[in-house]
Amino acid sequence: MKKQKIKLIALGIAVLVIIAAAAVLILNKHYIFIAGEYIGVNCDKIELAETVPDGITRRTLDELRADSRVTFDESMMLVNTEYVLRDDFAPAISEYNDTGVLMNDCMKDAYASLSAAVSEKFDVRLLVSSDYRTAEEQANEYNEAPAVATVPGASEHQTGLALDVYVPYYASYGFIKTDAGQFVDRECWKYGFIIRYPVYGKSSTGIPYEPWHLRYVGAPHAKIIYNNRMTLEKYIKSLEVGKWYDVDGYLISRQTLDDDAGLDMPSDFAGAVISPDNTGYYIITVQK
Ligand SMILES: [Zn+2]
Repeated sequence: MKKQKIKLIALGIAVLVIIAAAAVLILNKHYIFIAGEYIGVNCDKIELAETVPDGITRRTLDELRADSRVTFDESMMLVNTEYVLRDDFAPAISEYNDTGVLMNDCMKDAYASLSAAVSEKFDVRLLVSSDYRTAEEQANEYNEAPAVATVPGASEHQTGLALDVYVPYYASYGFIKTDAGQFVDRECWKYGFIIRYPVYGKSSTGIPYEPWHLRYVGAPHAKIIYNNRMTLEKYIKSLEVGKWYDVDGYLISRQTLDDDAGLDMPSDFAGAVISPDNTGYYIITVQK
């Protein structure tokens, strides 16, 4: 009799726990989305095949700058408290479509495509709460809130490659409770962006999940980082210096700049983006 009573109580408790868990999930459906992102339910692992491209030659930066197929930008810069920006760092910044939003020139088309997709799919405007910051502005942010803002030189907002986005009435963590926010987090890689501080990334970025902080890295890097559940820190360090990788129609190489000899490039290609990575190397992205 006593045993039966204990069993009944245990069963009652189990039922209550299940009901409570179900209620929490129904009221916070975004937890399921976040758990999916943590596991990578939407990710399709991409292999980076090592390769030796045909016709590799050394070309000086001047030669590369004169080549109309080559674009120099800052898209692959790693910025954190370990790799801070130089004091004289001056990115290519301008205003986006008369909105007052300042961003790096290299990502304007990508951002236009992403925000158009959000408007079209969800009939809502993707808005920006924080854009490019000067070193002075970052210093002010840091002085006002040292617990959440990073030190000057260590913020991606100083590159103009990062935007904090929201939709009306849903900013900060609220963003991920919306369909538009979940679309941005899950699909922004298709537009060249990553969630720079992903839900699984704190051990490598040092920063908790920020579903609102978008970072432009371009193709195919955004696709690789999202699908391989990486952070920018891990991805850049996974590229062995001097090697070439063949992935998704692109050739990628992380190289040391030899000031006299320049950088290795294949002779035949459609387009290329060359960016410093802020860890002492250049990342070359060649479209075949
Ligand atoms: Zn941010």
